[in-house]
Amino acid sequence: AKGGGRGAFRFFEPELDQLMHVRRNLEKDLRKALARGEFELHYQPFVSVETGRICGYEALLRWHHPERGLVLPGEFIPLAEETGLILPMGEWVLRTACAEAAKWPSDLKIAINLSPAQFRGKELVSSIVGALANSGIASHRLELEVTETVIMHDSGAVFAALGQLRELGVRIALDDFGTGYSSLSFLQKFPFDKVKIDRSFVSELASATEESRRIARAVVRFATSLGKTSTAEGVETAEQLAILREEGCVEAQGYYFSRPLQASRIAPLAQRKAEA
Ligand code: C2E
Ligand code: CA
Ligand code: CA
Ligand code: CA
Repeated sequence: AKGGGRGAFRFFEPELDQLMHVRRNLEKDLRKALARGEFELHYQPFVSVETGRICGYEALLRWHHPERGLVLPGEFIPLAEETGLILPMGEWVLRTACAEAAKWPSDLKIAINLSPAQFRGKELVSSIVGALANSGIASHRLELEVTETVIMHDSGAVFAALGQLRELGVRIALDDFGTGYSSLSFLQKFPFDKVKIDRSFVSELASATEESRRIARAVVRFATSLGKTSTAEGVETAEQLAILREEGCVEAQGYYFSRPLQASRIAPLAQRKAEA
């Protein structure tokens, strides 16, 4: 080998080629996944920190790929967003999750994740109205989780859509809070009902440094002072929960309580809660 740039280039080219090949195949498969019924929703409870009772469940998308097995959203949501497939997929998520929630006791909420692309489509509000009507669930049971990225894009249109949804009684949660760049004054104007403290802060609670605890405290106080609810995501230990309780966090969610579950496994849970 002569070495130098050319050799290095030839070395990387097949890898890049293979990467693009994998991506193209995944995209091809993703296009068929909806029609083939390969998607499934799992549901993870969020509970009241004070009482431990289940307040509702967050729907989390799963893809059962015919050859690759279970594929998690981190692997296919970005591709779905780039290709626009997120629109029909998001519609399916909305319909399926609302229909599932219709089987639960009526005090349980259903939380659904929305991608920025879904706000760019014109039909978001009407498709949500449709999903509520079809399932028959009350609008206040539906919670839409959006990230700060959603609101940074084209905030005029997003504000309008969120405002309309809130007028219908739908609740808005700010997901992954603390990882974005929105200013406090911006958030003050932003129409939302709940803040979800990002897992990255929660997982460091109870570690040697006080940093994460101070952040959690600040987010909870910020939410409380604006009259919003707070939820901590990614709670895995009793110690994290104890700190969150001391800091006044309202709800918690994470493996400590339950992993995301198949619909068939949460129906009995919801039932038991209704009887309690
Ligand atoms: P997210 O909305 O922040 O969801 C929380 C993620 O953390 C989920 O990963 C959940 O399974 C995981 N998780 C929950 N509790 C714990 C815990 O105690 N420890 C750890 N280590 N992880 C925990 P998942 O299901 O892989 O979803 C990843 C992301 O994909 C979600 O992050 C969300 O942004 C996106 N996503 C999932 N479903 C949908 C969907 O239907 N539509 C859209 N647009 N995005 C979705
Ligand atoms: Ca979420
Ligand atoms: Ca989150
Ligand atoms: Ca997250």
